[in-house]
Amino acid sequence: MANADAMTIVIVGGGTAGWLTAAFLQNQLPHTLNRPVAITVIEADDIPTVGVGEATIPSIRQTLAACGIEEHLFLKHCGATFKQGIKFINWRDDPGTHGTNHYFHPFGDQIMVAGRDATWQWLQLPPAERGAYAERFSVQAEIARSGRAPKNFTDKPYDGALAYAYHLDAGKLAQFLKTLSKARGVCHKLGKVMAIERDADIITGLQLDDGERVAADLFIDCTGFAARLINSDRQNRFNSLSGTLFVDRAVVTRVENASLADVIGYTKSTAHSAGWIWDIALQDRRGVGHVYSSRHIDDDAARAELAAYVQQPVETLETRRLDMRIGYHDQQWRGNCVAIGLSSGFLEPLESTGIYLIEMANWALLEFVPRYLAGASPQAGYNRILHNHYDNIADFLKLHYCLSNRRDTDFWRDNCRTETIPATLQANLAAWRSAVPSVYDFHSTTQCFSATNYKFVLYGMGWGASGAQAAEANPQISTMMHELAQRRAKLRDFVLRDTVPNAAYFAALQKL
Ligand SMILES: Cc1cc2nc3c(=O)[nH]c(=O)nc-3n(C[C@H](O)[C@H](O)[C@H](O)COP(=O)(O)OP(=O)(O)OC[C@H]3O[C@@H](n4cnc5c(N)ncnc54)[C@H](O)[C@@H]3O)c2cc1C
Repeated sequence: MANADAMTIVIVGGGTAGWLTAAFLQNQLPHTLNRPVAITVIEADDIPTVGVGEATIPSIRQTLAACGIEEHLFLKHCGATFKQGIKFINWRDDPGTHGTNHYFHPFGDQIMVAGRDATWQWLQLPPAERGAYAERFSVQAEIARSGRAPKNFTDKPYDGALAYAYHLDAGKLAQFLKTLSKARGVCHKLGKVMAIERDADIITGLQLDDGERVAADLFIDCTGFAARLINSDRQNRFNSLSGTLFVDRAVVTRVENASLADVIGYTKSTAHSAGWIWDIALQDRRGVGHVYSSRHIDDDAARAELAAYVQQPVETLETRRLDMRIGYHDQQWRGNCVAIGLSSGFLEPLESTGIYLIEMANWALLEFVPRYLAGASPQAGYNRILHNHYDNIADFLKLHYCLSNRRDTDFWRDNCRTETIPATLQANLAAWRSAVPSVYDFHSTTQCFSATNYKFVLYGMGWGASGAQAAEANPQISTMMHELAQRRAKLRDFVLRDTVPNAAYFAALQKL
């Protein structure tokens, strides 16, 4: 192995996608290739990174572990906090018309009764007896609300009493991954790609602004929305999903945290007139952003809604505006070039899937690069997997909008027009009028959102006919509900014993 030629990989772009890919492949690929790998990251110092992307989902733990990163170092250097789910506020009904216009989408499995799902029995109850779905079938919302972390100091790294992900500082993450990767042998070059030499689908070389020409076995395009490599000849079709997901612009700001006691272990997503506002608590600040549909609200009005949310005068609020292109490139892997990150595509950040898609691309490459080097053509299979990811995520995101009873603006009215809802989601919703989502509704083994995720959103949004059976009138229902409550209470006791408050966790971390 030591004598074999190294496989050369050139990654263009030094944002989250570029450096996460470098760290992952540097640590993982040599083991599956049985051959050394020489990775170079080229980044332009005058093209800024997007600088957002602060919420993740639980897959990130496995990915960071696969990068060979120690969890406490990641938490410390990236200003990260624990995320246990998302609280959706004002999504269900027009603001002011509903007493509890919010619900929680927790991470982790729902609580089962002896391996059986009690959702159908819960649906038979009259609404007044049901209680919120996430509160009945999970303890995560309660634990997160009470300010507790999902783990304690003595838990194994990346493990805890409950499922969790992180909120993180995107700028610090890229810097952390850069330092780590360079120390492990990744070559870093400042330079701008000015021209791409191609022979049809094959990139034969990159021309940099200092005159250097760069060749590689595999190029990875992490140039953000510019998609500088994967679509340099404009021959790579972009599958737009803007007819389904309307949000295409963001205005973002930062708010200082008064103390660690301000750390909230879930993302807050508050629906507004033409989009929604995210609110993410890091160790030292909050990241807050308004994502909106530019077809339904102008920039000034969107900024004003953000200013009102953070309770600051709009004139003095420091903000940054970002445009988003919603959809994905048809050829994610084209010839000898793979697009990862925003160059591959983007779906709005409602369920924090941007970094997840970077992770999934990397895990797939781990399987497919050895085949590619052995002479196979894995591009079509890889592209199919990534298309599935995008389409499945798009369905799940649209679910949040099309179930809403909000009719206060054109944005909400347009969102429930049938022609804007993907056919796959329409078919599932038709089936779920009389049945609970199950594993049989999902055919892809690499799907991000499962029946469990769908149930938390569906029933959080008030889906399902009103049951009319009082629990005590039906022994089967009352037994199931009673056992569900007992299992939940047991789990709650265990989690309370096995976790510590966020403030205590991060205060201890800062002393390390
Ligand atoms: C409003 C918004 C909110 C988001 N929120 C979330 C979230 O909560 N969770 C989540 O998981 N994801 C989120 N994302 C997505 C997330 O931000 C991205 O997936 C992630 O930051 C990856 O970006 P990137 O590295 O692909 O691109 P960028 O950060 O844009 O980096 C591009 C890099 O390419 C370099 N470059 C560009 N052109 C050239 C060239 N010609 N030569 C050399 N270098 C070049 C630039 O210098 C830069 O280093 C969000 C995105 C947006 C827009």
